[in-house]
Amino acid sequence: MSRISWDQYYMTQSHLLALRSTCTRLAVGATIVRDKRIIAGGYNGSIAGGVHCSDEGCYVIDNHCVRTIHAEMNALLQCAKFGVPTEGAEIYVTHFPCLQCCKALIQSGIKTVYYAVDYKNHPYAIELFSQAGVKVEHVKLEKEYPDQNTQKKREFVTGLLNKLSQDNINQDEMNSLQNEADRLFR
Ligand SMILES: [Zn+2]
Ligand SMILES: [Zn+2]
Repeated sequence: MSRISWDQYYMTQSHLLALRSTCTRLAVGATIVRDKRIIAGGYNGSIAGGVHCSDEGCYVIDNHCVRTIHAEMNALLQCAKFGVPTEGAEIYVTHFPCLQCCKALIQSGIKTVYYAVDYKNHPYAIELFSQAGVKVEHVKLEKEYPDQNTQKKREFVTGLLNKLSQDNINQDEMNSLQNEADRLFR
């Protein structure tokens, strides 16, 4: 068995954290790393003890959910709360940071941002990262270790096998089943 790379290890950790998200609009995870050690992690969710979007629905103003604290902010605030320096640290996030998080990351001394998925990449955020000398690197998650689709996959494959067993399937139906299989097992 080959060892998981550091990049994939931290990026997987962020995707695992995203599974804790309570916002139904987008699940984001962030892991702050310093000297190859994980010093903090966060996901997007309500303030501690607050109601969850997943229970009460999102609180949307101007097309943004205002209830949640973003994953990157939560990770930085964890460092603030426990007095852990972020100067020179790196962050691994599931999605490209928003403008507010971009500024907070720069200001807290984060030197490298690794992100897995492009998400409304704001031109001003890209410009600010560049101005501040923060390296931004795309790190695609190579393997979905925390697989959110296991149950769906199982159900789909079971349905597929049942269909095929009837042996009177038309080509269009076959194609759409194949497309769905390709999507889930990509
Ligand atoms: Zn929400
Ligand atoms: Zn943000």
